[in-house]
Amino acid sequence: MKNTELTGLLRSRGIGQAGWHARGGACRAEVWGEKAFVRAVVEVSSYCRQNCSYCGMRRDNKELGRYRMEAEIIREILFEQLPPSVTDINIQAGEDPVVVRELVIPLVREIREKTSLGISVCLGTLDTKQYWELREAGADLYIIKLETGNARHYLDMLSPGTLPKRLEAIRALVDQGWMVSSGYIHGLPGQTEEHVVETIRLLAELPLSGNSVSPFIAGQDTVWAESPGGCLETALNAVTAMRLLNPNRIIPAVSAMNILHPDGYVRALKAGANLTTINLTPEGWRENYQLYKKDRLIMSEQRVISAIEKAGLEPSRVSMTEVLSSLTHSTPVTV
Ligand code: SAH
Repeated sequence: MKNTELTGLLRSRGIGQAGWHARGGACRAEVWGEKAFVRAVVEVSSYCRQNCSYCGMRRDNKELGRYRMEAEIIREILFEQLPPSVTDINIQAGEDPVVVRELVIPLVREIREKTSLGISVCLGTLDTKQYWELREAGADLYIIKLETGNARHYLDMLSPGTLPKRLEAIRALVDQGWMVSSGYIHGLPGQTEEHVVETIRLLAELPLSGNSVSPFIAGQDTVWAESPGGCLETALNAVTAMRLLNPNRIIPAVSAMNILHPDGYVRALKAGANLTTINLTPEGWRENYQLYKKDRLIMSEQRVISAIEKAGLEPSRVSMTEVLSSLTHSTPVTV
């Protein structure tokens, strides 16, 4: 896909856009069938040593209650209350090496011993030794987003470290045998169309198993609290672009799309996404896992299943990590 065509796709609206989304959906169906994966996320810590300007968990946010969940509570959620449609678990946190050492690594080991669930983690930039300990404990997929693929813009956003370091982390993970998913935030303050094209291209070239795009939501108690949100239509078009560029990758529909419009999540699935997420972080904790606002939109099992049905899909019975490991690493295709 040439840059002019990619820009045309990103800008498309109306009938042209519907045509692109239909192509994205058909491409998803060809590789993955009419199916979406259902994962569950548990947000185990809201401590964060990073200071990303757009994120409510940034270390300078003194308004936020910080927590680390107790292992016993997570065990009960995962081993006794897991919704039957869930095939994969994602353990997520602010960048908190303490929770990784004390809680996540033993938990991953226990999940691996007791279940056949796919195990994803999203824990930020850690040292390679911790990545390896997580991998050895049995985690399969590491989610680490670029946030923005322009090095200067990355620094302006106060994203973790530098873009070259983030890319180094992705390569180190791949070298350790991880499947890696990465992505970006669409509509971050200061982001230009050139940045978006550069980011989507960079993601397409990396040795990834998954891609994501989340529209920017102005976060309470962040630097950008008063800024406008990202454009949902262009973010949905980015889902289609990612699907057509790398048909073999996992692409999530994200709850931020539903914050912008009640149909956002279903439309992402129709445009080529193939992963949904049920949030299992219990009340009392999730208010303090604040990416955007304290009052969160929580994707329950019922919301997720109904979105999958509305998109004309059905939940996969097999975990995404199992299906992914049967596909080779996806390299860009010509469309
Ligand atoms: N600390 C971990 C991940 C936890 S945050 C890490 O660094 O990888 C999970 C994701 O939320 C981030 O990667 C970012 O893409 C997203 N996010 C944070 N603030 C956001 C905002 N205001 N709008 C949209 N997405 C946001």
